[in-house]
Formats: sequence, structure tokens, C-alpha cells
Amino acid sequence: MFPITLFPSPFPRKEFNLANDVQTIVNELMHKVAFDHSFLNSSLESTVKVDSFTKNLLDINNQVEKIGSAQSVSFGLFRTDYMIDDIVSKSDLKSEGVSRDGSERDERDSERCRLKQVESNAIASGFSGLAPRVSSMHRYLTRKYQRDRVSSLPSNSATHNVALSFIQAFDTYRSPSAVILFVIEDWVVNVCDQRMIEESISELRPDVRVLRRPFSHLHPHGSSPLSLSQDRRLFIHGNEIALVYFRHCYDPAHYDLPGSWSLRLQIELSRAIKCPSINYHLSGVKKLQQILSKIENLEKFLPPKNCEILLQTFTGLHGLDFGSQSGDDAVKMALKRPENFVLKPQREGGGNNWYGKDIVKVLEPIKESEEREAYILMDLIKPPIIENYLIVANAQTQNPMEIISELGIYGSVLGSKNQLIFNRKDGHLLRSKKLGVNEGGISAGFGALDSPLLVD
Ligand code: ADP
Ligand code: MG
Repeated sequence: MFPITLFPSPFPRKEFNLANDVQTIVNELMHKVAFDHSFLNSSLESTVKVDSFTKNLLDINNQVEKIGSAQSVSFGLFRTDYMIDDIVSKSDLKSEGVSRDGSERDERDSERCRLKQVESNAIASGFSGLAPRVSSMHRYLTRKYQRDRVSSLPSNSATHNVALSFIQAFDTYRSPSAVILFVIEDWVVNVCDQRMIEESISELRPDVRVLRRPFSHLHPHGSSPLSLSQDRRLFIHGNEIALVYFRHCYDPAHYDLPGSWSLRLQIELSRAIKCPSINYHLSGVKKLQQILSKIENLEKFLPPKNCEILLQTFTGLHGLDFGSQSGDDAVKMALKRPENFVLKPQREGGGNNWYGKDIVKVLEPIKESEEREAYILMDLIKPPIIENYLIVANAQTQNPMEIISELGIYGSVLGSKNQLIFNRKDGHLLRSKKLGVNEGGISAGFGALDSPLLVD
């Protein structure tokens, strides 16, 4: 059982609404970036020199582009994560008086948006199945014990909405007897979450079959259940696959078995719709998040008004480009005040980032080499501290704990290079973790499922 909070945690209404409002802009951005082949290549050029995992992903994308894709439509289920940055509150400004790099703070900082994006996930965005369950448990408890607050609990239909997106993507494939394939880990920690989506698909459309198979069972060694027809239709045990949904394949360790990368390529080249397709997967890598935080890059994809709306949700993101003044400055800044930053490699799934003094340990030995380009540097967001009870399996819950929260907004897109078939926001997730814990992934064992109680 995953840890959960006993009560919903307060979250500012204004920032909650903003996060929801910008999701379709984030979706559109990720979609457009994914389909800009040369932008992906130029943006990741330095990263792939030192990061073999990102290189493998980009190589697959380039091979698909060269051979030609058999499926023009991509399906993306994204989740954008945010924290409230409390460091900019007026009282903090007075007491600190300095910004992260040590220079004087601009008074206008106090007016700036407190909602700050942590990252946008493009693959295996979890918990859309469980988040509404936690919301409804909190709704029940609030109705029972704090009835006047019920109206401050936002409704959450993430599971239903995500299932609808699946069905629309499935129908786009136009083969009613085909199946949806969930590609999963050998040992799935988050199985209930995935099953909720499966159940919701089945409730909406009992005729749509979902199969679940570990990636390792699809390998060509021995007898693979997968086969590709002449016209690149993908089959599993003779069933045509309309949609391949990856809840796996986002970490280098997921490709340990020989032939893993060719298997991913084989799936990518097939006619099945992929969630995510390799280009959508790439649109979520951290180096791109850093590059897209610069207005000159953002405005290549979005109209000025949307750039402005989105930019206010970004915190400082710094590239560590080797041989550039800005890269050198970022390294110096991180080494001088490591407590104010997070150092991130191009990884997903939690537990990979470096904080505080550890940043110095990692960065110092590579500061004069290209290796530093495997990372990006991000300003540390410092959310307000709140109190709640954590319910953890096999542990007694007696006292409230100091926690901080992270909001996730689900979004889905279906489209080809020149057409967006749909672009929607799908619901939310709140995760909370004990104060002092740096990482936040629940599956990785760092946090608890929560839900927001909106406050003004
Ligand atoms: P991953 O892709 O591994 O999930 P994230 O960028 O989401 O990586 O970081 C993991 C966790 O670390 C986040 O969920 C959040 O709790 C914490 N974190 C990441 N970036 C920041 C930041 N800039 N400030 C504060 N905490 C952060
Ligand atoms: Mg994350």
C-alpha cells in the first residue's frame, strides 16, 4: 500500500487554477517540440555526447524519421508537476534580501507567480488511476468531520478522462477487433493505479481489450509473442495491437536485456499508435525543459501571449554547456551556493537528482569537462510547510507531520505533425512528502498520495 495523507492538504486556489489553465499550452508545446525533428537534434546535440541513454532514444527517433513512420498519429499522456515557491513571499524577501546567486533581490520578485513547474512528464505519468480515489476518500472524511470545507475540494476525474483519451486514440486506429497493450515492468509496484485505468476503459467500452505484458516478455529471444506484418501492423499472439502504452522503458536499467533497444525500435516502426511515441518521450527530457525556459526558444512554438503565461510558471533553469560563458557561470553559482539548487541528469522515475553538498561532490570533478552537459541545474523551489497525518503501512500514525506538497496536472494529446486531434487537461494529483526529504516519487518510496483543499 502506498502512503496516503489522512486529510486533504491546503493548496492555493489561484495557483491550482493557473496550473489547470496552462496544461493545454504545455500539451501543445510538447506536441510541437516532438514533431520538430531538427530542434530535437540541435537541442540534444551536446547531451547525447555524454549521455548514452538519451543518445539511444534520439537514435531511434532519427531512424524512424529516416525509414518513415508507419503511424502518423502520436498519443501523449503527460503530467506537469508544480510546487509553490514560498521563497518569494514578502517576509522572506525582507529577511533574506538576496537572490539565489547572492545578488540583491528585485522588489518586483514579490509580485511574481508562486506556481513553479518542477517538470513535465512525457512517459509513464503515474497515479491518474489512484489520485481520484484519494480525493474521494478525503471528500468522505471532510464531509464527515469538516462539512463546511467540502466545497473547497475540487472534483477529480483523472481516471475517467485518461480512459476517454485511450478510447479516442484506440478508435483513431480504426480496427475494432484490435487490442491495447500495456508494456509494464516485471514486478509492478504501481499495479493498482494501472488497473484503475484498465477498469475505467472497460466500463466505458467493454469491447476494447487491454493486455498487459512485461517488456522482458516481448523480447525476440526464444519465442516472442510479438510479430510485425508486411504492412507493419503489430501483433501479439495473433491479436492486432492498436495502441502500445508504455508504463516502462524510461530508465536505462529497463533496457538491460540484449535486444531491448531493437525491440523499442521495432515497436516504434510499427503501425500501432504509441503512448508515448519516441518523439513525445524525448519532448520530456530535462535538457529540453531547460532549453524551453528561454523565451527565444519558447516563441518558436507558441504565440507571445501563451509564452508569457507559461514563462511565469518556470523557475530558474540553467544549462551547463561546456565552453560557454553561461555554462561556466552556472557551474560557479552551483558550487558557491549548492543549497539553492537541484542538479538533474536526464532521468525519470525519482531518486536521480542531487541536492546541496552532494551537488559539489558530483560537479567538482567534472566541472572542466563535457561530462557536465549530462546535467541541468535548477533553482530549488521551497514550498510552504503544512501539517498533516501520514498513513503508512505497518506504522502507527499518532502525530501530525510537517510536509510539503507537489501538484501534478494530467494532460492528453493525440495528433500528427500538422494536426492536433485533441488537446485536453485531464485532472490532478497531489503528492506530499515529509519536510527534509528531497525526492518526491511515491513509487520510488519518497512521498504520500494526497489531495488539495483549495484556500484563498
Ligand atoms: P524525476 O523525473 O526523477 O521524477 P523530478 O525533476 O520530478 O525528477 O524530481 C524528482 C523530485 O525532486 C520532484 O518530485 C520534487 O519533489 C523534487 N524536485 C525536483 N526539482 C525540484 C526543485 N527545483 N525544487 C525542489 N524540489 C525539486
Ligand atoms: Mg518527477
